[in-house]
Amino acid sequence: MEQKLLAYLKEHEAEIFADLKELVLAEASTSDIDQLAHVREVLIRLIKERTGSDTFVYEAKGGHNPMKFEFGQGDGTVLLIGHYDTVCPIGSMELRQEGNELHGPGVLDMKSGLVSAIWSMKAYKDLGIDPGKCLRMVINGDEEIRSPESSSIICEQAQGCKAALVCEPCTSNGDLKTGRKGSIGFEITIHGKATHAGNNHKGGINAIEEMAREIQYVHSLTDYEAGTTLNVGICSGGTKANVVPDLASYTVDCRYMKMSEGERIRGLLTNLAVSVPGTTREVAVDEGMPPMEQTPGNLGLYELAAQCGEKLGLSFSHQFVGGGSDGNKVSAMGVPTLDGLGAWGDGAHAVNEHILIDQYVPRIALLASLILKI
Ligand SMILES: [Zn+2]
Repeated sequence: MEQKLLAYLKEHEAEIFADLKELVLAEASTSDIDQLAHVREVLIRLIKERTGSDTFVYEAKGGHNPMKFEFGQGDGTVLLIGHYDTVCPIGSMELRQEGNELHGPGVLDMKSGLVSAIWSMKAYKDLGIDPGKCLRMVINGDEEIRSPESSSIICEQAQGCKAALVCEPCTSNGDLKTGRKGSIGFEITIHGKATHAGNNHKGGINAIEEMAREIQYVHSLTDYEAGTTLNVGICSGGTKANVVPDLASYTVDCRYMKMSEGERIRGLLTNLAVSVPGTTREVAVDEGMPPMEQTPGNLGLYELAAQCGEKLGLSFSHQFVGGGSDGNKVSAMGVPTLDGLGAWGDGAHAVNEHILIDQYVPRIALLASLILKI
């Protein structure tokens, strides 16, 4: 089966690249609401022409409308996840080929992954392969700003699915992603008491001093071995050099690998006792993203992918990576999730964003083969 799919996709390589180029040329960064509508139109047409399926478009408040389509039916549902927004401002990059690299805005992250999913279904259709299950694909338009208008829809659509496959690119060395870190943000405000630094130094309560002590403690919680990092990225406080400051604040960005570790850090930072007498503190928590833990379900999906890879002559492994994706929330719901099933390349969010041309069709064959194994 793997070889049959690969042979079909190789035969249609020119059409696949034509679709990819059309989608890359339909540029839209997350903030271009009109252009996002244009990309949706292109996608809706490609989906209909290649798979025969109609696309449902949700109305989102901010205009980053998520879309959904389904293909096939049978025993259970496999969710495919992708996004059609990119971080590249319009006109910031050209579509061009350099040797084995195809460069372009969003070509790796992740227009190629969308085309991979669409052409997997087209292959089933043309080869008369019954996937034996419903394939449901959700494509959002606000992934690059952490999916505020779409994550609840993605989670709703993931409910009860037997697996979720994220069509984001693989790692730069070709590995799939079985885990991703979670993140929590904190904004901590310290209150003290303002006095004249010369006339009444003793009567003041210095909020900056408390903040400084806390920052040292916060950074001491970083544990590279456990995969936990804390970064104080912004701090501010005080008004004038000769005033004891009554206000200071700082932000903390925390990344972690396990749900329990996130809970532990949240507890430590929210319940921290002040060490400068008389100060008080308030903590605002930005819940961020839960981690995609390397669950047995996620690793099981990777094993299936590895079997398909072997039959396709591909060699890759799997990794726990730092940045999050929409797969994090789905994995946290208990749905087995595997990420990195899009193209292979490098330079996502950078000026050298590209995919490896000769690796693209084999990666589509990997996705198409894996879906059938689930
Ligand atoms: Zn992406």
